[in-house]
Amino acid sequence: MDFGLSREDKLFVESVRSFAERVIAPRWVEIDEGRWPMAEVAARLGEAGLLGMTLSSRYGGQEATFLQAALAVEELAYADPSLATPVYVLLETAWPYVVQRHGRDEAKEEVLPEVAAGRAFVGIASTEPQGGSDVASVQTKAVKEGGLWRLYGEKNMVTGVSTALALPYGGGAVAVARTGAPEDKHRGVTLFLALLKRRGRQTPGFTYRDWDEVGRRGLPTGYLTLEGLPVEDVFVVGELNGGFKIAMEGFNLARTVIGAASVGAARWLLDRGLEWIRQRSAFGRPIASYQSVSFKFAELYARLEAARLSVYKAAWIADRFYGGDVAFAVQDVATAGAVAKYLAVGTAVETALEVMKWFGGASYFRETNVARSLLGLLSYYVGAEGAENILKLIIARNTVGREFV
Ligand SMILES: Cc1cc2nc3c(=O)[nH]c(=O)nc-3n(C[C@H](O)[C@H](O)[C@H](O)COP(=O)(O)OP(=O)(O)OC[C@H]3O[C@@H](n4cnc5c(N)ncnc54)[C@H](O)[C@@H]3O)c2cc1C
Repeated sequence: MDFGLSREDKLFVESVRSFAERVIAPRWVEIDEGRWPMAEVAARLGEAGLLGMTLSSRYGGQEATFLQAALAVEELAYADPSLATPVYVLLETAWPYVVQRHGRDEAKEEVLPEVAAGRAFVGIASTEPQGGSDVASVQTKAVKEGGLWRLYGEKNMVTGVSTALALPYGGGAVAVARTGAPEDKHRGVTLFLALLKRRGRQTPGFTYRDWDEVGRRGLPTGYLTLEGLPVEDVFVVGELNGGFKIAMEGFNLARTVIGAASVGAARWLLDRGLEWIRQRSAFGRPIASYQSVSFKFAELYARLEAARLSVYKAAWIADRFYGGDVAFAVQDVATAGAVAKYLAVGTAVETALEVMKWFGGASYFRETNVARSLLGLLSYYVGAEGAENILKLIIARNTVGREFV
């Protein structure tokens, strides 16, 4: 067992940190307020080699490990603790990778280099108005009409659509759609690379509007109505009716890197909190000298350390599994990803709330910026890429046993 990073990984972290400190950190509030649009930020991330990091060099990727991707996302979250920038990057670590593994060559050759260059975005369109947790019950339908697939249905809370529409190539999302009967449940679901804008032209057959989000406002999320969106055969991802398992692969990977984003934001919050408690005095002493404050700091520090290790371990397991190590199964990736998200998001939210208490009344104002980070973190706390109970369901199924859960 080795708790140190390799020389290559250390150099990689230093280069991402230097980019993040120089380009992202000075402007993260502008990103949060939509004054520096994510489509422009994406171009800078692409130049820095931070998009589609885990993709093959054949598609313009960096062939990075998932551990390296997690380390990069952690640094980006430290620089943009509202989470918009790291979420863009983490989504592009998970979903284009799934397309690379299961998509058709023609689709990969066209879209993935555009993702890596920051000219296209590929997210996930799974959640529907009736719910997001039960992916096997999606109602959006894909039907074959005159040689083309057409998607009909409603997708709620899809991140990155307006950003994709503002990018030069465009993009869209990996859409989960029903190709079998409703009673086929997970056996009747197929994945489609649904391009809402392709080669600079908006595709007909959908309408979209952004929600007015409370946080993470630099990367909007919204409501997508599919009204016969055309999808060519080459954009089917995986086998017909074989989409459920592939979607779960994407969620497993995304959760690991979400853990990394949460750890990065929590580190930022704890560092700001530490500066504050050392210099802020009450009753003639720095507030750090009260044990109710310093012990809470110690508790959060310890929990963050545990969360961080769980994220690195989940990424390490993903690297082993996807590197072909037969000692690991996809369930190991799923359990580790669920553990990483569960520990890291919970720890980060609690850190934000505690740091707000240390800042006192000042934290209630946007200018202090602590609340901006809390509002970004809450997106993952309330459910994005798997609500807490769903993470527990995955962990329990893979440990207690599917027959009991
Ligand atoms: C900012 C943001 C961005 C998002 N981006 C995307 C995106 O890009 N693409 C996308 O597809 N979705 C996205 N989502 C949606 C997200 O994936 C869903 O919120 C999530 O899957 C939960 O679905 P739901 O909100 O419909 O809650 P529901 O599925 O209705 O669940 C409601 C509650 O019931 C609990 N629950 C459900 N089933 C069980 C069970 N079996 N046992 C115990 N408790 C249970 C859940 O834990 C939850 O607390 C985003 C959400 C947010 C907030």
